[in-house]
Amino acid sequence: MSLSVIPELDQPEFRLAVAQFDQAAKAMHLDPNLHERLKSPQRSLSVSLPVRMDDGNVKVFMGYRVQHDSARGPSKGGIRYHQDVNLGEVAALAMWMTWKTALAGLPFGGAKGGITVHAADLSLGELERLTRRYAAEIFPIIGPDKDIPAPDIGTNAQVMAWLMDTYSQQVGYAVPGVVTGKPLSIGGSLGREEATGRGVVDVTLEALKHLKINLADTSVAIQGFGNVGAHTAHIMSQIGAKVVAISDHIGGIYNPKGLDIPEIIRIHKEEGQRIHTMKFGDKVTNEELLTVNCTVLIPAAVAEQITIKNADRLLCRILTEGANGPTTLEADQILEEKGIFTIPDILANSGGVIVSYFEWVQDVQRFFWKDMDIRDRLKDILASAFQRTLSFSQTQKTNMRMAALINGIDRVAQAHLARGLYP
Ligand code: GLU
Repeated sequence: MSLSVIPELDQPEFRLAVAQFDQAAKAMHLDPNLHERLKSPQRSLSVSLPVRMDDGNVKVFMGYRVQHDSARGPSKGGIRYHQDVNLGEVAALAMWMTWKTALAGLPFGGAKGGITVHAADLSLGELERLTRRYAAEIFPIIGPDKDIPAPDIGTNAQVMAWLMDTYSQQVGYAVPGVVTGKPLSIGGSLGREEATGRGVVDVTLEALKHLKINLADTSVAIQGFGNVGAHTAHIMSQIGAKVVAISDHIGGIYNPKGLDIPEIIRIHKEEGQRIHTMKFGDKVTNEELLTVNCTVLIPAAVAEQITIKNADRLLCRILTEGANGPTTLEADQILEEKGIFTIPDILANSGGVIVSYFEWVQDVQRFFWKDMDIRDRLKDILASAFQRTLSFSQTQKTNMRMAALINGIDRVAQAHLARGLYP
């Protein structure tokens, strides 16, 4: 079967997403018509974004919004600002969102957006103009009942506020439910910012329980110190796990005795110091961090970090995928042979979109919940998704990634079968 009917999607991340899908589809005997149909995104929009820069010149950026599938509800997924963003990567991330929302049982499909930009090079004004122009260009296909963006790598609550404002200006009234991950002042939810990290911790605790490993004996290494990595490190240290290694995109530090995470977060925030220059441990590269001695390894940065080249050198017992697509299919097989317990991305990092769902529900109902409500409901959804995936993997003798994918894909397939093919 072909990769997709859209040749521009032929990029490494999309190849990985399709290879995973093909493997799951084969194992579950998915209807071949549905298999072919779900390989290509339902709708892909490429936009060029002219932006007046501070020096008076106009610079043109490329932006994308891909809606992979909306059979189960409005499509949902983040917006990434990164210099490597391309249509194939965005399409892969959109496909993963479809399986992720389905596995968690959220009434959403999957989407993703992105702009090819190194956001740190832009002034705040340039970033705002770029975001507003992007919002105006994707305006026809987004909306609280159509497609709901959220933060991802390189974007944050402020970017969501500009998106919400631009959309609201176009329709003439405030529409908080058009994006999630907004500031609290315009309908954001308590607990959304830390939600992905909290979810990473929740599912890791489930895995520790399953494998009968005490938290007191657990050491954790985390690659990436963005929203996911930093919150994961913080919550892990709060609950008493020993965080032994962390890094940002330049490099990191390792200390087998444990790192002082609250102090590192303070220095990082207040003084803007890079992780690898901090004196709390030995310097490690991002590659070396993946092979340090630890109980739990958490890649929380970008895709394709654990590959055929380094998989056999991993020393962890549990791999919790905070990032989307951090492990290649060949590496998966090596990890399985080594007996490493993998909590796949579509389960491990789904805390973000689960609390996004809570935010959207609160916006639509205009009724807001307490912090504890958010945490408890998040924990409940994750615990049942984890248990369902685990028991499927045990009864069907398959690994956790295939179990999670098959569960998600099956829910999407059921929706398609019920709805039929139009016309
Ligand atoms: N960008 C996050 C993800 O990859 C969150 C998406 C959302 O909240 O819609 O899951």
